[in-house]
Amino acid sequence: MKRTSIADRVARTFPPLACVRGFRYFTRRAVTLANVSESGVDAEVRGKRIQHVRLRVADGRLAAGCTCAAKLLGPATCKHVWAALLEVDREVALPGLRSTQRALVLGVLDAPPKRPRQTTPKVAAPPPAPPTTKARPMKPRAAKAKAHAPRATARTTAQPARARAKK
Ligand SMILES: [Zn+2]
Repeated sequence: MKRTSIADRVARTFPPLACVRGFRYFTRRAVTLANVSESGVDAEVRGKRIQHVRLRVADGRLAAGCTCAAKLLGPATCKHVWAALLEVDREVALPGLRSTQRALVLGVLDAPPKRPRQTTPKVAAPPPAPPTTKARPMKPRAAKAKAHAPRATARTTAQPARARAKK
């Protein structure tokens, strides 16, 4: 009897590059599982910086979150989540997902709150607007200090001006 692999069950949602890089973390033994239970696993993946992966099982479904930038694209694209899944398979954790080998869609979890610097709310914040679109005047109190930019009011037209100056 073939042992069911959770990584295999969700593999089709992962891009090959994430699998390659995640596999590298896994073979380097860079993945540490914690809080292993039937309903979930937390994992620490050590790369240049440590990323925290969270896997949760409910009703035969699997959801994942990661502290890396994969929040933007979803955990199903994340090499850390893939590395964690390989380690979960190695340790044969999350038995509730091993009764079938059918393909499994990976759900999205909020990333574990591990970065004290980040104070943004859980709802997805809009991406920072490029400076040229800042047409609305800000309240002076809210405006960021522009000590080094005395000509800040000319910012919106700075690019053509700079282009002219370069010639
Ligand atoms: Zn990640």
